[in-house]
Amino acid sequence: MKWLRRLGYLVLALAVIGAGAYFWLVVDASGPSDGEYAIDMAEVRQLAASMPGDKAQEIRVERISAFKMPRTAMIAGDGWGEVDVPVYSYQVAFVDKEIVIDTAIDGVAAIAQKDPNFDGAAYARMQAAMIKASSIVITHEHPDHIGGLVAHPALSMVLGHTQLTQEQVNHPEKMFGLKFPEGALANYKPLSYDRVHAIAPGVVVIKAAGHTPGSQLVFVQLANGKEILFLGDVAWRHENVDRVLTRARLVSWWFLGEDRDAVLHQLAALKTLQETEPALVVVPGHDIDKMGEILQSGALVSGFK
Ligand SMILES: [Zn+2]
Repeated sequence: MKWLRRLGYLVLALAVIGAGAYFWLVVDASGPSDGEYAIDMAEVRQLAASMPGDKAQEIRVERISAFKMPRTAMIAGDGWGEVDVPVYSYQVAFVDKEIVIDTAIDGVAAIAQKDPNFDGAAYARMQAAMIKASSIVITHEHPDHIGGLVAHPALSMVLGHTQLTQEQVNHPEKMFGLKFPEGALANYKPLSYDRVHAIAPGVVVIKAAGHTPGSQLVFVQLANGKEILFLGDVAWRHENVDRVLTRARLVSWWFLGEDRDAVLHQLAALKTLQETEPALVVVPGHDIDKMGEILQSGALVSGFK
């Protein structure tokens, strides 16, 4: 019966290794949490004030689509319950122009797949907004942020006022199979900047490589003084900042191939920022509950014009 005992030990050993691996890949949220990333608000505000002209009047939001995801994929250790993952686009409205932030998913594919969560009317408003925008910026090169750009029927015209960064252009593999049409970027001049850069009065982009190489935050100071910081997917939900916890390793490494430590450093910096700048409105990438609060507060308004 020696072999049976050996088999028993083997099964036990595998169970222990398996439980450890499960914990490490799916549950554990630990990691470095401070020191390597900081947002200097004095510098950001100085840049925001550096461009002449009136600041924006308001920021509008459209919910273009949604999908569902297990909680532990968003916040490691939070279990397998499903959470709604809305997909948004934003329109920063000045007196004389508009900036679109993020372009959601490829609507052509969503329609072909009869995606029940896809809002065709919202998508049409976003497409129209992209045409008349003075500028389009995206927080990162993932398909739920760059998709509406890639699939835009007037792509070459729209690209003419789109400020993709050098890093975003350099990493098409982060678009997970989505592709710009052949040659679309042949003569494209990407935006190149170090750390922080003003793109309009009150509007500053802030590099935040980690979730993807081309990730950036977008800061907006409105004419009324209100300040909003779009986090892209550094945080999918506000809890990522509040608890300084990020996605399960399985998701970070296997599915996203992200720099998890960099994301944790950024979450720690954002947590500090939240404490030192309590009036700053932070907008996570995909948080239906936080968006409800933000809309309620009036910091963002619903529906593009
Ligand atoms: Zn996203």
